[in-house]
Amino acid sequence: MAPTVLWLRRDLRLRDHPALLAAAEEAGGSGVLPLFVLDPALLGPAGPTRTAWLFRSLRAWSASAGGALVVRSGRPEDVVREVAREVGAQHVHVTADAGPYGRARDERVEAALEGDGVGLVRTGTPYAIGPGTVVKADGAPFQVFTPFSRAWAAHGHPGPAAPPPADLRWVRRVEGEEVPDEPEELTRAGLTLPEVGEEAALRRWEAFQDRLDDYDTDRERPDRDGTSQLSVHLKYGEVHPRTLLADLAASRHGSTKGGQTFRTELIWREFYADVLWHRPDSAREYYRPQLAGMRFDDPARGDGKAHLEAWQEGRTGYPFVDAGMRQLRTEGWVHNRVRMVVASFLVKDLHLEWQLGARYFMRWLRDGDLASNNHGWQWTAGTGTDAAPFFRVFNPVSQGEKFDPDGEYVRRYVPELRHLPGKAAHSPWDHAGGYDHGYPERIVDHRAEREEALARYAAVRG
Ligand code: FAD
Repeated sequence: MAPTVLWLRRDLRLRDHPALLAAAEEAGGSGVLPLFVLDPALLGPAGPTRTAWLFRSLRAWSASAGGALVVRSGRPEDVVREVAREVGAQHVHVTADAGPYGRARDERVEAALEGDGVGLVRTGTPYAIGPGTVVKADGAPFQVFTPFSRAWAAHGHPGPAAPPPADLRWVRRVEGEEVPDEPEELTRAGLTLPEVGEEAALRRWEAFQDRLDDYDTDRERPDRDGTSQLSVHLKYGEVHPRTLLADLAASRHGSTKGGQTFRTELIWREFYADVLWHRPDSAREYYRPQLAGMRFDDPARGDGKAHLEAWQEGRTGYPFVDAGMRQLRTEGWVHNRVRMVVASFLVKDLHLEWQLGARYFMRWLRDGDLASNNHGWQWTAGTGTDAAPFFRVFNPVSQGEKFDPDGEYVRRYVPELRHLPGKAAHSPWDHAGGYDHGYPERIVDHRAEREEALARYAAVRG
């Protein structure tokens, strides 16, 4: 009998992997050929951070499967078909993709395989409950998080999948390419990444569980190491959320405040994937179309251009914003509170459209995920789901003073402010010598721009 093909995408792990089990079961003793397709349509816009993570993760996965991973470049509908033909596979197994590009791509691949009498078998998704599954009683999709989360909890989800069979045989019967070198841009940018792969994800999860008691309070503090930093591992499927949820439920954290809050955060991830499933257009377009007519500055010229560059480079003159934007460029990760503040600043203080910021985040974030990122942006911009009205504008100074009360986060990422003690790092304009080390002056006046944003909002609201 021929081997089956396991086409990996956002599921770069061995444990809790239903599609892998399905491939192994069908293959019996003939073995499973693991394949990854380097798709130019995805790699082109991925940016150096995610590209580097992916390449490292592919190497880690292949090492854990005895070097069996076959990597090939090209259009998936061509490559997957070629490989299935070369080994005579009857089926290609995948974890279903829920994003707009992935769904359309899989339909193309399915049609191409069908031409050869080969089936594409989808088993499981990167979520505990597949996007599109949880709907209101009348079948309509949820647009607000809290009722979604209640219905999500009531729906329930299966526990983790069984471990891979002990006699699973990986086969590498066809030619593949080397995983490419990492983009030089990453090294040039001086961006460093933490450990990659399934083992690293599980170690991080293990270590984080000890800190869950403090999660409920510490998660709002960017100066502390209070969150899991599992987002990137979830993004690449190095760990499945079901594994995390099952471990939580089986531990005392199933009932602690920290454990419950962490579970709620995982449900936010499920919610945004569900929103994207029902409204694929909301990845690029306004979720609330009535706000699409608002007046924004032109990012290609004048102040708009200068402001966008200052925001991207972390030199807006607002310490909390600049610390966040510099964290993005050095770590490829930003604390959630800071993501909200820098996003609000771009849209409401600089009057630039959320898509510009979302694109920049997708370029540099290691956990850049279309559903969580673009809906996180829309939420902050006041154009997305939930009650996040446009007129709620984050104050970049008081947010910093509240969530980074000793100024430690700012001093970590903004060396020009290291001479200012404690909270003073949040307001160099109020302190003698505040600008002595080259920190830039504020590019806009927050109070005035807040009024300007509200006026532009009032104009579209009528
Ligand atoms: P933890 O606090 O440890 O949370 C655990 C997990 O829950 C996270 O790993 C993540 O999977 C999920 N989660 C937590 N908060 C959210 C949220 N608000 N929305 C969706 N899922 C959540 N998250 C991404 O994974 N990718 C993105 O590209 C992304 N872009 C964002 C952009 C903006 C403007 C905003 C406001 C939020 C964005 N988020 C994104 C959500 C959130 O900021 C990150 O998931 C979180 O900071 C990741 O760190 P963590 O793993 O330590 O989180």
